[in-house]
Amino acid sequence: MDSLLRIKHKRMLDDLLNVCRENLRSVNEDLIRKAFQFSYECHKNDFRASGEPYFNHPYEVAMIVAKEIPLDDISVVSALLHDVVEDSDTNLEFISKEFGKDVAEIVDGVTKIGGLLKDQEITKTEDQKKAENYRKLLLSMIKDVRVILVKFADRLHNMRTLEFLSPQKQLRIAKETQEIYAPLAHRFGLGAIKWELEDLAFKYLNREAYEDLSRKINDTRKEREEFINKVIRPIEEKLKEANLTFEISGRPKHLYSIYRKMITQNLSYEQVYDKFAIRIILETEDKNQCYLVYGIVTQLYKPIPARFKDFISVPKKNNYQSLHTTVIGPEGKLVEIQIRTRKMHEIAEKGVAAHWKYKEQITTTDKELEEWVSWIRDIFENASRDEATKEILTSFKLNLYQDEIYVFTPKGELKRLPVNSTPVDFAYEIHSNIGDQCIGAKVNGKIVPLDTKLHSGDMVEIITSKNQHPNKSWLQFVQTQKARNHIRRYLNKEEEKLVEAGKELFEKKLKKHKLNYSPDDIVKLSRKLKFDNLKSFYKAIAENKVELDFILKPQEEVEQKQSIDLQFEKFADIARFTAGEVVIDGDQKGLAISFAKCCNPIPGDPIIGYVTIGEGIKIHRKNCRNLIDKLEANDDRLVPVTWPKADGSYFIAGLVIKGEDIPGILKDISNCITNYENTNIKSVNMSAEDSIFKGTITVYVKNLDHLNKLIDRLKKIHGVYSVERFDSNKH
Ligand code: MN
Repeated sequence: MDSLLRIKHKRMLDDLLNVCRENLRSVNEDLIRKAFQFSYECHKNDFRASGEPYFNHPYEVAMIVAKEIPLDDISVVSALLHDVVEDSDTNLEFISKEFGKDVAEIVDGVTKIGGLLKDQEITKTEDQKKAENYRKLLLSMIKDVRVILVKFADRLHNMRTLEFLSPQKQLRIAKETQEIYAPLAHRFGLGAIKWELEDLAFKYLNREAYEDLSRKINDTRKEREEFINKVIRPIEEKLKEANLTFEISGRPKHLYSIYRKMITQNLSYEQVYDKFAIRIILETEDKNQCYLVYGIVTQLYKPIPARFKDFISVPKKNNYQSLHTTVIGPEGKLVEIQIRTRKMHEIAEKGVAAHWKYKEQITTTDKELEEWVSWIRDIFENASRDEATKEILTSFKLNLYQDEIYVFTPKGELKRLPVNSTPVDFAYEIHSNIGDQCIGAKVNGKIVPLDTKLHSGDMVEIITSKNQHPNKSWLQFVQTQKARNHIRRYLNKEEEKLVEAGKELFEKKLKKHKLNYSPDDIVKLSRKLKFDNLKSFYKAIAENKVELDFILKPQEEVEQKQSIDLQFEKFADIARFTAGEVVIDGDQKGLAISFAKCCNPIPGDPIIGYVTIGEGIKIHRKNCRNLIDKLEANDDRLVPVTWPKADGSYFIAGLVIKGEDIPGILKDISNCITNYENTNIKSVNMSAEDSIFKGTITVYVKNLDHLNKLIDRLKKIHGVYSVERFDSNKH
């Protein structure tokens, strides 16, 4: 390295260390030096689009982290190294060994966010994409909040140097910044960074409006500054007389916020911008001085009492503190004045106080997000002041969330649930009606059983049906009290109704058969039929599970049915079953119904039911080899069943595909499946030998027609020899 470069480097490193010493409580200088040197070596041969050495980028990002989002030295080190894994052959183990596990994890997180954001599916709508990205960012934040803060710094520097990229890239990056990074920075209360990101994005997304506005502001600047100075001068004098240390300035307005106001409120530039505003920041911790200053200012200018707001005694919910007032300034013009201490100001710019609560549309779920983020922010804010910085920074790794998961609605709204929650819990969390009527769920686009355990980051979509009701079996797996309560309430109500109906029916039948049962007789009968109590006896009657006519007939008539009676004793449960048309889409009409896994019937297949012991009725395809093997002569356990009307349910079907093992064929096959009617794939199993592959794929289909059309399409793929349905007859 030549000496000139060495001198330049030494200066850069010194600058960085100085900024760190100024802003951070403790600085591991050796580690920063080492990271500086290592990052330089890794990026030695790379250059940015601007032509400057690539190393300038991680260096500037580290500077931003140290200066503008002052965190800790670990974040500065991570910022220096944030691109080395992606851009050189360094791996994470090496980073972990040399710089520690935390640094390695943050670098990994920053790299991953970048990758995830690039990985956007073209088929998705803008809104979905936005929600998806947002979700991913939130998730990485759950892991270690420093990941997202380093990413903010990275994005800020990229935005500051965006002019060197192609127009297409400028647009893409600016849009992403406006839609994802700026709102997130806002939620984090990183006021200053949010404004800068927005203004930079505005510049590239709407250059004409941006330039027009800049010009107008420039043109009126002198006039405005003169007026502001006229207001400020007397205040300055009085404050100095009172021996106060302070900073006073015309409050900056940001281009994008002016522009947005003009558009949303349909105002002219003059109407938005000609509101004069100044801010007084006191270099003291004593909040009483703010009131003192207020007194001084209002002696100079007449205040408008209705416009006085004391956010110091009564801070805003997000901890924002400041005095606001409006006074009548020179020439009778109104001037807004904000008075606050340095600490209050810092919180407003870098931490807690964000104005979004009043300016952005909030939904109820945003509120939860707000609480959550503000909790993180609290740690963050206190950490930079607290003695035990290190320990608290460690708690950035939010282990506290171990017993909770975060899942998302299709619109990207966040829901917090206890660990092991299922789609049913999620559905009740949204609304009790959604819970009561949920028949299925899609998790990350795939249909799953209702008892599936959800994980943080899952996107959950609930499928409902007006005909659905809460099911007793749900109680086995739901986690939230809310879900449990709703299900129980429903079941109790239904049970009472059934018991009443059963009782009525039973009395009617007694009359019909001209029988006179005493209460004692009824109990005896119910015991004989193996019911635990009268309630369940009446319930079974109402549910048509008891063949009353048969039971109540005089004994002689029954004799020829002795064999049935024997069965009745042997399979008491099964005997209560009434054969005939079976309703397949649920188990409300008696025995549980399930589909045999050996042949996976789907609507359109000829089917038959087989009454099993203990497992209710299994539905098989009529030609199922497995079933045929099982049958005995005159087997009376077969029940005719028919398909119900289509209800939008999905069924599993298996396919065996054979073909030539050419590159990309698996991708062609899976594209072909998912592109047809959005068919979801359940599993894929592929093996290849001698350039021939054989694959087993299971898919979710609506019916036989759906499956057959899918097979036809698959057969047309170049390289595919055969596609066959996979069932018990052929494997
Ligand atoms: Mn970068």
